[in-house]
Amino acid sequence: MKYDENNVFAKILRGEIPCKKIYEDNFILSFYDINPQKKIHALVIPKGKYIDLDDFSEKASSDEILGLLKGLRIVAQKLGISTDKGKGYRILSNISEDGGQEVPHLHFHLFGGEKIGKMVQ
Ligand code: 5GP
Repeated sequence: MKYDENNVFAKILRGEIPCKKIYEDNFILSFYDINPQKKIHALVIPKGKYIDLDDFSEKASSDEILGLLKGLRIVAQKLGISTDKGKGYRILSNISEDGGQEVPHLHFHLFGGEKIGKMVQ
């Protein structure tokens, strides 16, 4: 499958659609989900054009992989839900149609700020 340049997160990265930004660096952008499912619901996306985690694992550079993994923790810290603050959170990434993915640009959901509950409902 080819990366869709017109997906909503590509538009956010290009600044064509606004977002409520949490954090940004060379590798990632993080912003609040427009339709929060928990008290805190953030999204973390790589700046590179990757469809999903499979695509990213196959094609991303070591720096991009490291930048994304480290970035997830930085965002959790910024949100005050990291373990060093005595809290916790859940990270989820939907992959393709069977995984329930709607936006075809790799993204991680960060849920926190309350007990997140059952893993799969
Ligand atoms: P998926 O189902 O692909 O894992 O999750 C896509 C997420 O993107 C959903 O939780 C949805 O609410 C969020 N979303 C869709 N469009 C926008 C948007 O324009 N802005 C923001 N901030 N989130 C969006």
